[in-house]
Amino acid sequence: MALTWNGKKLDWTNVIYFSVIHAGALLAPWMFSWTALGITLFLYWLTASVGITLTYHRLLTHRGFKIPKPLEYLFTLCGMLASEGGAITWVAMHRLHHTLSDREGRDLHTPKDGFWWSHVGWIVSDIGMDRREIEARHAPELVADPVQRTLNRLHVYPNIFVGLALFAWGGWPYVVWGIFLRLVIGLNATWFVNSAAHTFGYRTYETPEGSTNCWWVGIIAWGEGWHNNHHAFQRSARHGHAWWEVDATWALIRVLMALGLARDVQGVPKTADQYRLRGGTRRTAALAPPVAVAAEPEPVLIEA
Ligand SMILES: [Zn+2]
Ligand SMILES: [Zn+2]
Repeated sequence: MALTWNGKKLDWTNVIYFSVIHAGALLAPWMFSWTALGITLFLYWLTASVGITLTYHRLLTHRGFKIPKPLEYLFTLCGMLASEGGAITWVAMHRLHHTLSDREGRDLHTPKDGFWWSHVGWIVSDIGMDRREIEARHAPELVADPVQRTLNRLHVYPNIFVGLALFAWGGWPYVVWGIFLRLVIGLNATWFVNSAAHTFGYRTYETPEGSTNCWWVGIIAWGEGWHNNHHAFQRSARHGHAWWEVDATWALIRVLMALGLARDVQGVPKTADQYRLRGGTRRTAALAPPVAVAAEPEPVLIEA
C-alpha cells in the first residue's frame, strides 16, 4: 500500500532529496570553520533574500517594482539556487495560494489541512496537479518569456555547479555548510511563511484568510514573515509596515532604487489604515472570498 499524507501519495524523489539535505546538514557542527560560516551566510542572503524574496516573490509574482531585464534574469538565477524550483513554477503556485488562501483542501498549503502539511507535507506529496497547466494559467507572462522558460527548465543545475565549486575549494565541509545547511535554513524559512505565518503571531489588517505577522519568520525569511501585511497589500514591495517590523529585503530594494536600478516601486496604499483591525488583533474566519489583487486600493509609487 502506498504511503499517503492527507490522502496524497508521497513523492519519493522529493522525500529522499529533502531527507538527504537535512541529514547532510546535521554534519555541520563537526565541519565548522569561519570561512564555511561566511560562505553559508552569503549564499543564504543571495539565494533566499535576493533570489526568492526579492525576485521570485515581490518582483515576478506580485510585480511590486521593475528592474532591468538582464538583472531580472541574473536574480532569477539566484532564486534557482534556493532549491525551490524554477521561477515560473514558483510564481504560478504562489499566485494560486493567493487565489485560494486558507481554503481547506484547495489552497496548496494551508495549515487548516495540518500545520506540518502546510510546512512540508505538500512539498513531499504528489499533489496531483498538471504543473504546465497551472503555469500557463497563473504565470502566462513568464511562460511567454523564452529566457524564463529556459531557466525554469534548468533550475536544478546551478546548485550542482556551486556544490562542485565549493567541493573543489574546500572539500566536504564547504559543501555541507554552503549547500546542505544553507538549503535547510533557506527552505525552512520559506516553509515557515506558509505554516507559521498563517498560524502564529498577530494580525494588523482585516483579510479574508488567516495570515499573520510572525516576528521570527520576519527575521529568518528576510521580511516575508510580515505576511498579514502582505496578504492585505499584495503588490506592495514593502512588507514590514511598522518601524520595528524588520524587512531586510525592503532595505535591499531601497538600495536598488538609490542606484537607479529599481523603478515603479509599489508602496503601501495611503488608505491602508482603513483596513486595520479595530479592537486588537483578532482572528477572522477565513471563509470570505479572497480579495483580488485588482480590487486592492491603489498602491503609492515610491520615489527614490
Ligand atoms: Zn505573495
Ligand atoms: Zn500566505
